[in-house]
Amino acid sequence: MVNLTLYGGVEEVGGNKVLLEDKSTKIFLDFGTSFAGEAVYFQWPELRPSNIDDLFKTKVLPRFNNFYKFSGGKPFVDAILVSHAHKDHYGYTPLVREDIPVYTGRYTRNLIKIRNRTYYQTWDKKVSHLEFKEVKTGKDIVIKDIVVSPFAVDHSVPGAHAFIIRTSVGTIVYTGDFRMSGFKNVLTKSFVKQLKNEDIKCMICEGTNLAKEPREADKHKLPSEKDVGRKTDYIADKTDDLIIYDGSPVDLDRVRTVAEVAKKHGRKLVIESRLAYILLQTERTGLLEGLPGKGDFLIYLNRLKEKGRDKYVEVFGVGRINHEKKMIEDPELSDEWFVWGPDGREKILKHPEEYLVYTTNGIYMMIQFKPVDSGIPGTYIYGKAEPYSEEQAFTYEKLKNWIKLCGLKMKFSHTSGHCSPEQLGVILKEVCPEILIPIHTENPELFVGLIDSNSTRMILPKVGERLEIK
Ligand SMILES: [Zn+2]
Repeated sequence: MVNLTLYGGVEEVGGNKVLLEDKSTKIFLDFGTSFAGEAVYFQWPELRPSNIDDLFKTKVLPRFNNFYKFSGGKPFVDAILVSHAHKDHYGYTPLVREDIPVYTGRYTRNLIKIRNRTYYQTWDKKVSHLEFKEVKTGKDIVIKDIVVSPFAVDHSVPGAHAFIIRTSVGTIVYTGDFRMSGFKNVLTKSFVKQLKNEDIKCMICEGTNLAKEPREADKHKLPSEKDVGRKTDYIADKTDDLIIYDGSPVDLDRVRTVAEVAKKHGRKLVIESRLAYILLQTERTGLLEGLPGKGDFLIYLNRLKEKGRDKYVEVFGVGRINHEKKMIEDPELSDEWFVWGPDGREKILKHPEEYLVYTTNGIYMMIQFKPVDSGIPGTYIYGKAEPYSEEQAFTYEKLKNWIKLCGLKMKFSHTSGHCSPEQLGVILKEVCPEILIPIHTENPELFVGLIDSNSTRMILPKVGERLEIK
């Protein structure tokens, strides 16, 4: 018998934490942050959990002995398998002790580490103590009684993997997050093909896009990443002044798509410092090809207040920390590649038709760019899924308020990081698992319309409920 317990991802998008127990083997499939769960009790930045106990108190994080940092004894699990570099899948791994190995793909490990260097190193962020072990398609991993076959899939961050797990009761599949609409949809297709050729006992399948009613931004969703390129190109054709593109933090395929549009239209690409750092480091590690690299874009340094003064003085190079400091001190980066302070913004606003600003935090950018007495001439392209947690939906309203305040035209150009319900239906009927366990969806019950109920039985788990798979 195998036991499966979902400690997150139940009736929520994200927060995946699946404990799989087979004989003496115990592994976690993902160990992600529950943004929706945290938002019930906390609010960034004032009301943050200050230590691990604060997360236990609210039951956002499951409590186990011998699992978290600073605990002793025999480790609670043998391994954690991380599917991809989105925080709702890896965000709580920094809290885990150092002798529990974290298996993940090379891209995912590198992105987690690069991304982490752009944050303040608070108690919940450090990953330097973790032992990462690399996984790749075609290379099975033996973890005591089980064998795991990692399988690369396409998603809105590079390097995502699904896991096919051989257990004592048969094959259990964990999809992680996956899509058919990206440049690398061939990966997802061969993953599904592999599943079709096997007897699948149980499939833990994500259902992000199963919605009762589409949200506003979701209504504008395009069928594929190629369409995002076409539409963004079309919008650029029609725009004579500034273009601001707002995309997800590690959606590097999207950066490539939008960078190509900027190039085609002879616009200078301006990228916010955090994403710029990720791109430069990615270039350095040879992580991915075809992305804009050194000299292909201008680096926007965030507004900075000098210590002890109320005024934003934005002194170049002084007081910068983390990734901004590292980039400024990098001799390979020319001073001319940095956009800083009021002068830098003024230069852009003087010739808005020459620039395309890429940000992952639109409001933050508009606050900085908007002059006191006027607006920002141009078009704002929203390239994200509408946020799912209620806290973030609230921010979406604020985003729209700022766009209006700035007098920007709002457009949408986005494709999802996840399969559509129709695509899921085809996959599930082809794979035909004996048991289906929905995860990473607010509407797990909607899977019932996608499966062949004669051959697939659906289990809707509760958080922390131990399921028996026989
Ligand atoms: Zn994801």
